[in-house]
Amino acid sequence: MALFKKNIWLAFYITVIFWSIFTTVAAYYTYQNVYQDITLEQANITKISAKSLQSSFQQYETILNLVAAELTRRGSLDDKNSVYNTLNTAVEMDQTIVAFVIFNVRGEPIVSAPLLPIPDQSSLLNTSQTKDTFKATLKVEGVVLGRTYYSDIIGEIILPFRKTVRDREGKVLFVLSLSISLKEGFDYFINNVQESLVYNTFLYRKMDRYFQLAPFDKIYDKNIYNYQIPLAVIKKSIALPVENKGESYNFIEHGSEIVYHEINLPAKHSITASAYLDRYQLWLITEVEFNVIRQLFLQKVIIILVLYVFSLSIMFILFRSIALNQENKSKALTYQATHDFLTNLYNRFYLEQYFKEFKKNELFSVIFINIDNFKLINESYGHAQGDKILKDVALRLKDIVATDDLLVRISSDEFVIVSNENNRPLIEYFCRKIVQSFGVVFRSDGIEIAISASIAVSSAPQDGATVDIIMRNVDLAMYQAKKTKNCVSFYEHRLLTEYLYNNDVENELKKALEKNEFYLVYQPQLGISNNLKGVEALLRWNNSKLGNIPPDIFIPIAEKSGYMNIIGEFVIRRSLEDVHELKQQTGRQFDLSINVSVKQLQNADFYTVMVALLERFKFDASTVLLEVTESVLIEDIEQVRATIIKLKERDLRISLDDFGTGYSSLTILKNLPIDELKIDKSFVFDMLIDSKTFSMVEGIIAISQKLKIITVAEGIETEEVKKALKNLGCDIYQGYYFSKPLNKEGLKKYLQNYLIG
Ligand code: C2E
Ligand code: CA
Ligand code: CA
Repeated sequence: MALFKKNIWLAFYITVIFWSIFTTVAAYYTYQNVYQDITLEQANITKISAKSLQSSFQQYETILNLVAAELTRRGSLDDKNSVYNTLNTAVEMDQTIVAFVIFNVRGEPIVSAPLLPIPDQSSLLNTSQTKDTFKATLKVEGVVLGRTYYSDIIGEIILPFRKTVRDREGKVLFVLSLSISLKEGFDYFINNVQESLVYNTFLYRKMDRYFQLAPFDKIYDKNIYNYQIPLAVIKKSIALPVENKGESYNFIEHGSEIVYHEINLPAKHSITASAYLDRYQLWLITEVEFNVIRQLFLQKVIIILVLYVFSLSIMFILFRSIALNQENKSKALTYQATHDFLTNLYNRFYLEQYFKEFKKNELFSVIFINIDNFKLINESYGHAQGDKILKDVALRLKDIVATDDLLVRISSDEFVIVSNENNRPLIEYFCRKIVQSFGVVFRSDGIEIAISASIAVSSAPQDGATVDIIMRNVDLAMYQAKKTKNCVSFYEHRLLTEYLYNNDVENELKKALEKNEFYLVYQPQLGISNNLKGVEALLRWNNSKLGNIPPDIFIPIAEKSGYMNIIGEFVIRRSLEDVHELKQQTGRQFDLSINVSVKQLQNADFYTVMVALLERFKFDASTVLLEVTESVLIEDIEQVRATIIKLKERDLRISLDDFGTGYSSLTILKNLPIDELKIDKSFVFDMLIDSKTFSMVEGIIAISQKLKIITVAEGIETEEVKKALKNLGCDIYQGYYFSKPLNKEGLKKYLQNYLIG
C-alpha cells in the first residue's frame, strides 16, 4: 500500500502489463476460435460437396449403365430410330443432360440425341480435350469421366461421362457419351461455392491434373479447362502433407479422410482441405485464404482491442487523477508547511530548510525587521486590525525585495529578508527603502495607524562564516536597534563583546547575593540652606571576577533575567537596617529614598514585603520615598497604579525619578499620586550650557510648584548650577558638589560632622 501511494504510476504500469497479457491471451484464443471455426466449416463444405458430387456423378453413371444394358441386349445399332428414341428419352428425362451421343471405337459419332450438326470426319480422338479420356474409356468397362471442355457443337462447357458397350467376348462395340451441362448439372455446386466468399472450392483430375470444376471465379472460363496444374503445385498442396504424415498416398486416396495443408507461398498463403473422390479419381479442394482468416480474426479482435484501449484510457485517466490529486495534496501540504497562513509569505520552517543549502562562507545578508510596539497596536486596535497591518507590511516588503531575495515572516511581527548581496552601501540603501515604506501611515477601516520598525542586519562572510553565526549576530543587532527603535542597526563586533559580557554579568548576578557582594552607598540630599533632608540609597556590586560593575549595567540585566525582586528586597532590607542603625547612633532624623524597579512594583508580594520590613525595624513609613523611573512606568501604569495607591495609604511617598527623559512625563504626573519629582541629571548637567534645557528645568519646577510637588535636582556638580536652581525655586539638591555617595561608615562620619558643622 505504501509502495502504491509512493508511486501510483508503478501500480498503473503493473495494471497495464497484466491487462496486456490478458488481452494478448484473449486475442490468441479468439484467433484459435476463428481458425477452428473456419477449418471446421471448411471440412464440412468439403465433405458435403464431395458427397453431393459423388451422388450426382453416380446418377449419370446409372443412366449410362441402363442405356448400356439396353443396347447390349439389342446387340446392334441397326434400328437407329429406336436407338435415337432411347437416347432422347434420357435427354428429355434429365435437363442437365445436353447431349447423349454414341461413338464408334474411332471416336466418330454414330447417333446423337438431340440431333447435332456434327461435321464430317470429326472424332473425339482428334481433339486434345477428349483424346486421352476417350482412349481411357476404351480400356475399362466402367464409366469414365472425361475432361471438362467447351464443345463447339453443343455450344457450352460440358462434362462428358463415357462408357463402352461390348459384345460377349468383351470387344468394344461402341462408346456411350453423356454430355452434362456445367451450368445445369452443377448449378447447386456452383451456387453453393459462389455464395461463400470465404471458401474457394474446385475439383481437379488426379490423372492429368486438369480442372474438372474450376474455382468459381473462373468456372465458366473455357480456357481454364485447358490448363494443366503443374505437378509442383500438386505436390505442395497434397503430396507434401501426406509424406509428412508418413502415410501412404494410397491410404489417403482411398480413405474418406480430409487432408489439411497450409500453403505458404509468396503469392498465396492459404489452407486447403482436400478430399479424394476415389471412384472418379478426383481431388476436391476447398481453399481458404489466410487473409480471410486474418480479416475475420481482425473483425473479432478489434472489439477486444477497442475494449483494451478504452479500459486502459479510463484507467489512465483514473490513475492520473489519483496521481494529480496526490500531487496537489502534497503540494498543498508543502505549501502549508512552508508558508505563513496570514501573509502567504514563507515561514520559519522554510527559512530553516533554505539555510540548510548554504555552504560555509557563502555571500549573503540577513535583514531582520521587527515592528515596534506591535503588542500595543494589537491591544489598542484589536487583533483583526493587527492582522491587517501585518498583511499590509508583508505587501510593502514584497514590493521592495528583489526577485531573488527571500522574504519570510518568522513570527508575529518579525520578518526576515535573506539577500544575496553583502555590499554595505547597497544594503543600507535597501534598508532605507524599508524605513521609507513604513513611513507611510497604515490605513485600515478608516483608521490611520503610524508604525515603525527596528531593522537589524548582518552580512556574510564578513560578519561570520555560517548561517548560525549570522542569525545570532542579527539578533544582537536587533537587541541594539530595540534600544532606540525605529532605526537600522548593523552588526558590529562590539555587540558580541557586550553580549558576552552581559552573559557573564548575568551568570555572576545569580551568585552575588550568596557571595555577599552587594552593598549600599548613600548620597545626601540637602535643602535650600544646606540642611540634610535625606539620603538616596544606591546599590553597589563588587564582583570577584568582573570587579566593580555599575548599577546602570547590572540593574537592567537583573530586571530582564528575573533577579530584580530579590535584589530589590535586599536593597530595602539593608537600607532600612543601615538607616535605622545610623539614626539611633547619631540621633539625626532624615528621609530615605529607595530606588524601586518597575519589576518590583509589578510583583504582587512587593507591598506585603515592604510593609513587613518597615514594621520589623519600626521604621516611620512617612520618611521613606520610593523612587520610580518614569520611562519604565509608562508601560504598566494601570497595574502599578493600584500598588502605589496602597503604599501611599501606608504613608509611604513616591518620587518620580529621571523626570523628563520619558515620553509621557506629564501624563504620569496627572495620573499618579506623586509626592516628589527628580529632575534628571542630564538636564542639570546641561542647563547652564543650553538655554533650551534651562527653560525646560524652569518649566518643570514651575509645574511642580503649581501641583505642590517637591522638586529634587540630582547631578549638581558646581555652585553655579546650585545657585541657578535655587533661583528657579528648586526644593532639594543632590550631587557631587555636596557629596558623593557614601558607604555606611562614610555616611556615619558625614552625619557626625554635619552635627558638628
Ligand atoms: P539614579 O536613580 O538616577 O541615581 C542617581 C545616579 O546619579 C547615581 O549613580 C549617582 O551616583 C549619580 N550621581 C549623583 N550625583 C551625581 C553628580 O553630581 N554627578 C554625576 N556624574 N553623577 C551623580 P549610580 O549609583 O551609578 O546609579 C545609577 C542608576 O542605577 C540609578 O540612577 C538608578 O536608576 C540605578 N540604581 C542604583 N541603585 C539602585 C537600586 O538600589 N535599585 C534600583 N532599582 N536601581 C538602582
Ligand atoms: Ca534614583
Ligand atoms: Ca535619576
